[in-house]
Amino acid sequence: MSEYKDKYNNLKDLMVKLTLNIKQLETESSVTDYIRLNKELDEVMKDMYETYKLMKLDEYNNCNHLCVITDKNIDEHNGRNYYSVGCIKCGMNQKALSKPKSIRTIDEIIMAESFCDESFDYTLIHDYEVDLDLAHAIYNKIKEKYPNINDKLATKYFEIALDNIREIEVNESRKKSRIKRLGLKPNFNNWWIYEW
Ligand SMILES: [Zn+2]
Repeated sequence: MSEYKDKYNNLKDLMVKLTLNIKQLETESSVTDYIRLNKELDEVMKDMYETYKLMKLDEYNNCNHLCVITDKNIDEHNGRNYYSVGCIKCGMNQKALSKPKSIRTIDEIIMAESFCDESFDYTLIHDYEVDLDLAHAIYNKIKEKYPNINDKLATKYFEIALDNIREIEVNESRKKSRIKRLGLKPNFNNWWIYEW
């Protein structure tokens, strides 16, 4: 018992000493600067997140969505088919709603919020399932080349580009440079999603 008591008292003394040392340090100007800058950084980060959220909500809510199917599911109880769609222009994806909240990315959290706040009107431009990262990347490339293109023409170019990418076989190194050109993740390999 006294062994613990001694240890406890020693630790208590040490805690008081360390606290005093820290208090002493906090009077030095470089340390007060450090604390102040950290607080400022916290504020900026919070503000940045809030602004990013407003920027994305604005983008999602003002987009004339052109959608592809991003996921299909059969309800085991009633046998009905359900599908999620995603927009090739703004990247908004209904799939975000079926993901558990704890593993949603920042963009997916904002998308889910937008889906709940606004009714989602869209034009379905492609009847088959497409990886939305790929579809969004193709659209961005079209938009980069033709900044003022209208939705109808962009849809046409999208179909042609997707067909070319899927139908024309290329070797691995060409595939890698295509991935880079489209700005996809280095291990991207979801060119086709096979239908059931
Ligand atoms: Zn959109």
